[in-house]
Amino acid sequence: MDGRLFDLSGKVAVITGGNGGIGLGMAKGMANAGATIVVAGRDAAKNADAVEQLQALGAQARAIPVDVLKEESCRALIADTLKAYGRLDILVNNAGMSIRKQPEDYTLAEWHTVLDSNLTSAFLCSHAAFPAMKKGGAGKIINIGSMMSIFGAPFATAYAASKGGIVQMSKAMATAWAKDNIQVNAILPGWIDTALTKRAREQIGGLHESVLKRTPAGRWGEPSDFSGIAVFLAAPASDFITGAAITVDGGYSVVA
Ligand code: NDP
Repeated sequence: MDGRLFDLSGKVAVITGGNGGIGLGMAKGMANAGATIVVAGRDAAKNADAVEQLQALGAQARAIPVDVLKEESCRALIADTLKAYGRLDILVNNAGMSIRKQPEDYTLAEWHTVLDSNLTSAFLCSHAAFPAMKKGGAGKIINIGSMMSIFGAPFATAYAASKGGIVQMSKAMATAWAKDNIQVNAILPGWIDTALTKRAREQIGGLHESVLKRTPAGRWGEPSDFSGIAVFLAAPASDFITGAAITVDGGYSVVA
């Protein structure tokens, strides 16, 4: 096999929400493949701990604090990455959250918080990253969707809107930036054991068991299940794949 297909040596990757959960799982995969990692989250202690874990793998890593709800913060994240490393090859738009309510119970402010955290943030970071990727002659953007990119749920009106939007935005950007050799793809995780779903399991009765029952793989996903797909979508192996939405769900979305 061509050893360069999955080699990320010399590449710089920014991962929003890279300080825990799925983001850190992806960061570890890319670090093991040779990438330099910028961990971009809000929580300073989580940022520092993630950087330590990545450095323990032998990777170059640093934290750049970001609040993806703020345009200036997204732009500063990309500018500071370029200042530190002089290049940006991979952007993972992973930061996200949910407010679980019936549609009629949302305030407009709550709707905006979910949409801005999950969707507008991905637009802003991609918008800020594009000039450097274009100048560098290549780029990989990986956006994190959800099963709610495909399905609906009574508690997920804003979240599903944001995650459906992630898939369509990825397709549109993929078509716009293919000529610049920038591939834009989405990953749709199934149910993964993280801080986010710990809260969901507290709020939604029976969730833990119903996920286990429906998932053909017979288990919840782990953050480490995202290491391989992140390397694949960040590496030359996927250079002819763009605009795709790839499920990583143990079969949850295909079972009859
Ligand atoms: P976590 O809660 O562990 O991770 C969420 C991450 O997003 C944290 O690192 C958090 O950083 C960051 N984040 C949230 N808001 C902001 C903000 N305003 N600015 C900067 N960073 C922010 O959950 P997951 O790992 O599960 O979630 C990661 C992604 O995966 C999300 O987009 C989520 O929607 C998606 N997903 C998760 C699934 C699951 O089953 N777990 C299923 C499908 C999709 P900090 O703590 O520093 O604020």
